[in-house]
Amino acid sequence: MALTLPIYMDYHATTPVDPEVFEAMLPYFREHFGNPSSRTHVFGWSAESAVEKGREQLGQLIGCKPMEIVFTSGATEANNLAVKGVAWAYRDRGNHIVTTAIEHHAVLDACGRLEKEGFDVTYLPVDRRGLVDPFQVEEVITDRTILVSVIAAHNEIGTIQPLAEIGRICKARGVLFHSDAAQALGKIPLRVGEIHVDFLSFSAHKLYGPKGAGALYVRMTRPAVKLTPLLDGGGQERGRRSGTQNVPGIVGFGKACEVASRVMAEEGKRLTRLRERLKAGIFRRIDGVYCNGHLEQRLPGNLNLSFARVEGEALLLSMKDVAISSGSACTSTRMEPSYVLLALGVSEELASTSMRFGLGRWSTEEEVDYTIEKLSERVERLRAMLSGSPRAGSSGLPVAKERTVSVQDAPS
Ligand SMILES: *Cc1c(COP(=O)(O)O)cnc(C)c1O
Repeated sequence: MALTLPIYMDYHATTPVDPEVFEAMLPYFREHFGNPSSRTHVFGWSAESAVEKGREQLGQLIGCKPMEIVFTSGATEANNLAVKGVAWAYRDRGNHIVTTAIEHHAVLDACGRLEKEGFDVTYLPVDRRGLVDPFQVEEVITDRTILVSVIAAHNEIGTIQPLAEIGRICKARGVLFHSDAAQALGKIPLRVGEIHVDFLSFSAHKLYGPKGAGALYVRMTRPAVKLTPLLDGGGQERGRRSGTQNVPGIVGFGKACEVASRVMAEEGKRLTRLRERLKAGIFRRIDGVYCNGHLEQRLPGNLNLSFARVEGEALLLSMKDVAISSGSACTSTRMEPSYVLLALGVSEELASTSMRFGLGRWSTEEEVDYTIEKLSERVERLRAMLSGSPRAGSSGLPVAKERTVSVQDAPS
């Protein structure tokens, strides 16, 4: 297969829309453009039935009833709705929330805001591999604890948490359990009954659906959980999220779920093989490489590596034709060491030279091999530059090496 540049290897940041998803969405922009809340004509009815179909498709994938799905604008909103919605609804019962040091900012910063309102938040540490210890969850729960929130599969390091064990503990202690499953949905099996979870956050654009669509699963089996809405208005989504639904987005989200349930098992195996090929190739060609996150309990398409003796920003910038990221996309404009890697106990130096490789539905062996090749070339060159600095010219590049650099980097 021919190789096209640039290569996209940042599938944790976002994914392209699957052609099947795109096709399914199209009629809902112009033909079936109705408002699902319009009860008096067919335009409204067909939009409403499209939304209900999306609800069923997501429900199928996670094993819940359609009415337990609240559509949102994405996982950021779903996380805010779960964390703040529970805090506000249960504040008379307690003011303590348990979460982890490695959550996505949507959970961390929602908790931060609640702290300003007088809530107490415990940020659990994780081990070297990024795992939360369920025993620690049990230990920190008090009779004032109302919510535990633990990310299902990590966007930066790919680590998959022992949700079922944590869920069992929360259930036994009568504490609500939320998980940010934006990276997990459609990638690993996720059944609400098996993980004893009360809330799950999702985002369509992480599983080959459109941006601006997501959902919160809210358990409705007895006793149903309470939730204070973030948005007041027309009372859509059973009053839990007012605002006209994003109909094409929901149609695409639903279709993306349907595709995922069909291809997940095979795709997971293929991406694991590709990931191992990438990892083995890099380790064979480059020394001083460290793998961050869990080696097995990990998302199939995720690889996170740190490179000793290079400058993180220089390495990232030198990989122009391969789209990878330095960690979480939200903070990659600043080259700060990743707070996630620091929480794993990775040194500041290695935490600031980390690279996240995200493989996905259209990643190929050719792309992986090209990436191995380029990366080893550039790490070697950067290391040579660092060690030969005394005679550096005004450009900051060592004079003796400059010719080699420009020859190898000749525009293609
Ligand atoms: C992408 C992501 C989010 C945010 O989702 P949006 O739909 O972009 O708001 C939250 N949590 C995790 C783990 C993510 O990967």
